[in-house]
Amino acid sequence: MEVIQSFTIDHTRLKPGIYVSRVDRGFTTFDLRITEPNAEPAMAPAAMHSLEHLMATWYRNSEVKEDVVYVGPMGCLTGMYLIMTGNYSVEDIRRLTIECLKWILTQTEVPATTPETCGNYLLHDLPKCKQECARYMDRLENDFHCEYSKLQVTLADGKTFADA
Ligand SMILES: [Zn+2]
Repeated sequence: MEVIQSFTIDHTRLKPGIYVSRVDRGFTTFDLRITEPNAEPAMAPAAMHSLEHLMATWYRNSEVKEDVVYVGPMGCLTGMYLIMTGNYSVEDIRRLTIECLKWILTQTEVPATTPETCGNYLLHDLPKCKQECARYMDRLENDFHCEYSKLQVTLADGKTFADA
């Protein structure tokens, strides 16, 4: 097995920004990195959960909705994955994500937070989510990073992982 791409990234040198995590059979996985891994506190689970509802809602209603395959949080709680079909550059996704974050900052409730529509409907925190969105938007506008630092990872037994 091969080392999966997202484990070949040097997470100690990964700044908040937007990266191409991988490209498979016409699907591009964008890494929307919101906090600096292992250097800043990761997002709180409730804030991340609210971001998932809000960001997925925005992307699935946006001008690119036909090409949105998946929007969901990273298990490490430092960012979101956005999987798209079609040809989108990091710059396209930067522009769209800034629009998305602007919209989130105007919201007064998180969509789909009832027991019928969400698997953990009490685990939400809109104020904290908006704080994270404001900081991420500032970073996308003023301190943008989009190039991964590569790390060569080889497992002792030659096996590999897979996440995104
Ligand atoms: Zn939910």
